[in-house]
Amino acid sequence: MLKKRTGLILVISAPSGSGKTTLCKRFLQVSSSFTFSVSFTTRPSRKNEIEGVDYYFVSEEEFKKMIMDEEFVEWATVHHQLYGTSTRFLEKAIELEKNVILEVDVKGGVQIKKSYPQAILVFLLPPSWQELQKRLKKRGTESDKKIKERVNRAREETKYAPAYQYFIVNNDVNEALKDLLSIIEAERCRLDEKQKSKLTDLLSK
Ligand code: 5GP
Repeated sequence: MLKKRTGLILVISAPSGSGKTTLCKRFLQVSSSFTFSVSFTTRPSRKNEIEGVDYYFVSEEEFKKMIMDEEFVEWATVHHQLYGTSTRFLEKAIELEKNVILEVDVKGGVQIKKSYPQAILVFLLPPSWQELQKRLKKRGTESDKKIKERVNRAREETKYAPAYQYFIVNNDVNEALKDLLSIIEAERCRLDEKQKSKLTDLLSK
């Protein structure tokens, strides 16, 4: 029998404040076959964040050593802090044909697609820049200056959206989740090269 695809690499990118973390958490609650790729960062943890669940929080020195040891598939400086995706984790997940979800910035997403062309890139957009600013203020974790910086960066990041295969406008998290689940279902049914050769085999029997 031809099985649906597994071993999906799903990359979600979005300007901060677009509701990406909430969407990913909701997605993981209903998609138990997916594992979250926990990134490494030099950013201090926010309240409610858990070591090893949200991020691995490391010092700049440790992070730089990891770069030297080529432990990252990709890494980037975002808002003056370093963030990176573990090669070891991703390679292991691929080997076990696990479905993985990664939450990285746009440059990271583009880089992952280069290394893993099978990756599915999804860009999440806020309904408007005003709404984004409002959400960042409500979060209350950043100063006005930092919020301004994040909105400016969001505008910059959105320039990369055309490199992505899918985009979702996050007006409402339930609707955004439905969109994301539809994308996954479509991708699971899509014939990739491996599936195509299996199908050819089946048809020739
Ligand atoms: P935050 O500090 O708000 O958690 O994340 C800031 C930005 O860093 C977000 O756009 C987030 O997607 C991105 N980010 C988190 N982990 C990684 C990573 O491993 N690599 C890259 N390139 N970006 C990341």
